[in-house]
Amino acid sequence: MQTSKTVNIIIPCYNEEEVLPWSMGKLQTMLSRLKLETGVDGRFVLVDDGSRDNTWQLIEQFAHAHNNVEGIKLAHNEGHQGALWAGLQESVGTCGAMVSIDADLQDDENAIIDMCKQWLDGKDIVYGVRQERKTDTWFKRASAQAFYRLMQTADPEIIYNHADFRLMSERAVQALMQYPERNMFLRGMVRRLGFSEGYVYYNRTARTAGESKYPLKKMLSFSIDGITSFSTAPLKFITFAGLTMTLISLLTIIYGLYEHFVGKTIEGWTSLMVSMWFIGGVITTGVGITGVYIGKIYTEVKRRPRYFVDKKVGADK
Ligand code: UDP
Ligand code: MG
Repeated sequence: MQTSKTVNIIIPCYNEEEVLPWSMGKLQTMLSRLKLETGVDGRFVLVDDGSRDNTWQLIEQFAHAHNNVEGIKLAHNEGHQGALWAGLQESVGTCGAMVSIDADLQDDENAIIDMCKQWLDGKDIVYGVRQERKTDTWFKRASAQAFYRLMQTADPEIIYNHADFRLMSERAVQALMQYPERNMFLRGMVRRLGFSEGYVYYNRTARTAGESKYPLKKMLSFSIDGITSFSTAPLKFITFAGLTMTLISLLTIIYGLYEHFVGKTIEGWTSLMVSMWFIGGVITTGVGITGVYIGKIYTEVKRRPRYFVDKKVGADK
């Protein structure tokens, strides 16, 4: 198969047995449309990110039934970003462009057709941008928006409402592969590459089956990672403790002032109480934030391999 007009669609899958058959059906339909409208051949690279359910068995079945499906089983759960990276790296040299999309198809798969059109017009990176999030819960929407705002303050180049649904040309992926860091925040890194960019807008839909693998706790840790893995947890805890102390200091301020005005206190007690809690909170937060960065240096200097491939199916086709 001619590789230059082929696009690999990379799908990270972690415990997705419930949604995968439905998604693959829709994706295959999209692929036929893609071929008709643009002449581009599509292939799927399903990356099983150490799932504990029957995701891998399903991927094997797909790979045997369709010659455009390849499966890669990672030896360990590496997280969404790690699984995506593995899919990209394993696809280098086999295609002209790569699209990354989540297994639950909350991002409109038909946007891939527009992405490919822009790619054929010469764009190296085409970002999928969510137009609305009506179907997400209020909480997910609010927290995601707060996250993007925060990210934009930390890094103005971040694209608002772009997750990891994007097309990258082969040369853009090869450039990305030269980034050596282990703390990966792909949507920020890709923006730094600087090749020609395009945008495709679409509406985000609800998850059809299965649960979000990103509950609040994971989302929080993902946010902290984005702005600044496993043994840095105590450092993060210090930040949390510092913030809690700062909050308590606010209560102490109110309490101290109340006692002061009621006249129950001796001279100097209020200011001492208030400043002790406040300074303690601020210092602990500062130590925590510094600690988070040191934690990152710690994981970076170890230079551990990003992932190991356990098994592959359909790779020879
Ligand atoms: N995912 C993964 N490894 C993980 C967690 C998630 O590969 O450790 C995949 C998951 O299968 C999905 C994508 O990352 O394809 C996004 O996850 P999810 O849809 O649960 O996140 P949300 O859309 O709720 O943010
Ligand atoms: Mg999802």
